[in-house]
Amino acid sequence: MAYKINEECTACGLCEPECPVQAITEGDPIYIIDPDKCVECDGHFDEPQCVAVCPVDAPQPDPDHPKK
Ligand code: SF4
Ligand code: SF4
Repeated sequence: MAYKINEECTACGLCEPECPVQAITEGDPIYIIDPDKCVECDGHFDEPQCVAVCPVDAPQPDPDHPKK
């Protein structure tokens, strides 16, 4: 399941450089995860890095984009 950044995002930018597949980009007004790129950090890290670094728990599993 891809992750999706919810409206809690404060656009702090911490998550963007941590994504191993460059799925996160700065949007307006919040950051955005490309569900076609997000691999849930599988094969890279033990846990989703965007979740690990986010101070407000904005990245959440997105049921609209199940694992392919
Ligand atoms: S879960 Fe991993 S691959 Fe997906 S957006 Fe977050 S850091 Fe990137
Ligand atoms: S770390 Fe969290 S609050 Fe900061 S830009 Fe990413 S999703 Fe938004």
